[in-house]
Amino acid sequence: MATAAPVRERAIRTWRPRRVLLTRAASGFAHGRAIAERVAAAGIELVELPGDRLNLGLSDDPRRAYSEAKNTLAIVVAPPSKRRLQPIAPSADWRVDLAEGCPAHCSYCYLAGSLKGPPITRVYANLDEILGVLPDYLGQGTITSRSNARAHEGTTFEASCYTDPLALEPLTGSLSAAIAWFGRWPAEAQLRFTSKFADVSPLLSLDHGGRTRMRASLNPPAFARFEGGTSPVHDRLAALRRMAQAGYPVGLTIAPIIAADGWEEAYGALIADAAAQLGDLPALDLTVELITHRFNTGSKAVLDSWYPGSALDMTATNRVTKRTKFGAEKQVYDAATMRSLRGFFERAIGDALPAARILYWT
Ligand code: SF4
Repeated sequence: MATAAPVRERAIRTWRPRRVLLTRAASGFAHGRAIAERVAAAGIELVELPGDRLNLGLSDDPRRAYSEAKNTLAIVVAPPSKRRLQPIAPSADWRVDLAEGCPAHCSYCYLAGSLKGPPITRVYANLDEILGVLPDYLGQGTITSRSNARAHEGTTFEASCYTDPLALEPLTGSLSAAIAWFGRWPAEAQLRFTSKFADVSPLLSLDHGGRTRMRASLNPPAFARFEGGTSPVHDRLAALRRMAQAGYPVGLTIAPIIAADGWEEAYGALIADAAAQLGDLPALDLTVELITHRFNTGSKAVLDSWYPGSALDMTATNRVTKRTKFGAEKQVYDAATMRSLRGFFERAIGDALPAARILYWT
């Protein structure tokens, strides 16, 4: 079996927003003040607002406005709606948001269709309140109860739906706090997050109790042009190895799978790299989630405005329209492309990582 390459400590990307706003309400929470202290310690200017309204004052020029928004972090209080959890199949039973927004620049970013308004990042100061409602949802999920392969994990809570929590961790500490909280929670439950970043050092020594599964969100290095501002793929895999060595259950989120020219060779190399990083670890608990690229009219319009020069194909080629159960339309790959992709991934993963459990294909 191949042995992993040595872990490299270089090329960890740490986000430094150009401005950080602290609302008055957020400053009333210990976690909000702790984030403000981290920001100040990092030498980033903190603006303490007199109230709770975010006056962003963005440029009239759309390109500059995008850049200004992407470089803004706001420390705010999550509204009560954030404490009424939504189901989030097939990834997990429930969605739990520690933040909303992401500093990276992926040409396909699913947040373009989910979040409204300028793409700033909001991090929540009332973390204790957010975590405090989770026991109300214990045992109520539909994913773990319907899937024998996942039942042993208990009720699952996904923290990466509206953000990449690892990207924010050096400034927020929210992910570490949530992992430690799950580690102390004597319940059949699991926190889950997926990331295109690699700085896991703050997480390695936490008392996680095996109750958090980190997945590396991956695309081949050949497609790195679609993932601006993220960590190099090799570093994400090396980070996942370090997490597995620290006793965390881990996973690969191969997403979004893009059927661009050369996809078979590119994803074959990616899976070989993952096997080289992880295949030699004893007692590896590894899952795989396979998510194909999709978009809808709304997300395409936003992405076209954010990334007008992107080479990502969002034309009708190889696409069909699919309706969700709520009636919304999305453009997915056609049946022949899907069949070919799915057959390839199931074969390649079975060959290279036979111990991995594929959780779903979508
Ligand atoms: Fe969007 Fe994820 Fe890329 Fe962030 S890392 S821009 S959340 S796709």
